[in-house]
Amino acid sequence: MSEPQPREETSGEKRAVTMEKIVNLCKRRGIIFPSSDIYGGLGSTYDYGPLGVELKRNVKEAWWREMVQTRADVIGLDSAILQHPRVWEASGHLQNFTDPLVDCKSCKQRFRATDLTEPRCPACGGEITESRQFNLMFKTFMGPVEDTASTVYLRPETAQGIFANFENLVDTQRVKLPFGVAQIGKSFRNEITPGNFIFRTREFEQMEMEFFVKPDPAEEERWFHYWVEERFNWFAKYGIKREHLRLREHAAEELAHYSRGTTDIEYRYPFGWGELEGIARRGSYDLDQHAKHSGRDLTYFDEEAKTRYRPWVIEPAVGVDRPLLAFLIDAYDEDVVEGEERIVLRLDPRLAPIKVAVFPLLRKAGQPEKAQEVMRVLKRRFMVAYDQAGSIGRRYRRQDEIGTPFGVTIDHQTMEDDTVTLRDRDSTSQVRVALNALLEELGRRIGWER
Ligand code: ATP
Repeated sequence: MSEPQPREETSGEKRAVTMEKIVNLCKRRGIIFPSSDIYGGLGSTYDYGPLGVELKRNVKEAWWREMVQTRADVIGLDSAILQHPRVWEASGHLQNFTDPLVDCKSCKQRFRATDLTEPRCPACGGEITESRQFNLMFKTFMGPVEDTASTVYLRPETAQGIFANFENLVDTQRVKLPFGVAQIGKSFRNEITPGNFIFRTREFEQMEMEFFVKPDPAEEERWFHYWVEERFNWFAKYGIKREHLRLREHAAEELAHYSRGTTDIEYRYPFGWGELEGIARRGSYDLDQHAKHSGRDLTYFDEEAKTRYRPWVIEPAVGVDRPLLAFLIDAYDEDVVEGEERIVLRLDPRLAPIKVAVFPLLRKAGQPEKAQEVMRVLKRRFMVAYDQAGSIGRRYRRQDEIGTPFGVTIDHQTMEDDTVTLRDRDSTSQVRVALNALLEELGRRIGWER
């Protein structure tokens, strides 16, 4: 690799990122589309486009590596969305998974009572009804008969699949406390007031881990603090500025029905601080409930103490969509390169949808053919874009906007000595790299091993 070559000239003052900018960029570049767009959209549902699906896969991969792959004490699971209705009876969701709902007597709009600052309709100022409890679980029917006996629910959290499998896991996996079970998957909540783009939707993905510990307050305390710190650091490791993160402890009256104490990791969204992740102490609540309702034992045999007990649980529970939105917001930047404004997503290379873009400088002299050959080699390892349309500056800008961290340009010199220029998205600096060292150099720069 040779000395860095002059970079494109960059300057420019920072302008505030807004939700509008993020939503527009997502739509314009195929990251996230409103769902059922041609029919005017369906309230609060979104489709991830070709770039969004890559970003989402990378967020999930980053979580799975951290929580399962690189640890010795966590195993994975992928349980069904539809479960026996008794799961939700036992877990308390049928009874307690509710939000207080109020109606406006004039305009008929509905609101979550806790979102209102005054006892009047925020839309029209009309009188509102007394609040009543509204269950957030979606219902459907299993089989051809649509009656109460065939009612099933779309899961509102992935966690119950883990508790309901506790016996299967302990019997088959030779696990020893403390150990965790991790799961990624869709959850559904019939939210009264969804909004803020993908922050609160009715269909979303979650990444949850139930960490089972000895039923002992000191053990619980130790692991709770451990997981709060681990999870906080994970967001920072993948690019969220620490000053945009904070911890917030739940007050007793806002605790979920299963929780003995919850701390949220909050992020500073353009619309204000909001939850990214919750870390809850669930105690043995869920296993006790399932034992009671199923008649199964659901205990763990402690070989050292020669006793059986139900472990306590620490649960770090996070969505996929909310962190994805936070990563996009924190990465969003605008500056001026060579006198031209650019939007640049300074995403961590591990999260970036496309890792490298390949460009022939000219559309002649064998350069496109050579560039396609390079692309084919890189594609075996990374998501690669190929672009030969327009000026090289324009092509760089297009990639900057979607966060592609590296650009490889094939020029006249490549045809002579098999070297290419490798451009860095953030600094815009370029170095010349031999083609036979390119794969390794890119792997090192993108690398998961950090
Ligand atoms: P909120 O208070 O914002 O409704 P919650 O406390 O009910 O969230 P949890 O039950 O702790 O959320 O769920 C764990 C994680 O799942 C949340 O931190 C969030 O990242 C994600 N999540 C929950 N509800 C939604 C939703 N409606 N849309 C998108 N993500 C969600």
